Amino acid sequence: MRRRDPLFEKALKLAESGRIEFLGNGVYNVVGDHGTYIVAEDPAGKLNCNCPGFLQKGRCSHAAAVMLLTKTQHRKRVPGRGTAP
Ligand SMILES: [Zn+2]
Repeated sequence: MRRRDPLFEKALKLAESGRIEFLGNGVYNVVGDHGTYIVAEDPAGKLNCNCPGFLQKGRCSHAAAVMLLTKTQHRKRVPGRGTAP
């Protein structure tokens, strides 16, 4: 049974090795193995990348890495005031 997606594994490596730079406004700079790509979040919250892989398949390790990173950030976020009793 193969549950592990190679794309996901690559994304994990990118996220873990700190190769993602947040540029602001939902735009990230991702340093991949073959070049640096721009991953941008559109108003709907969908991530787009400008690498050839994303253009062909609509998904890539760069966008997945940014997704992983933002997910971790959300989880790390400390709940503010107003927690339910
Ligand atoms: Zn990409």
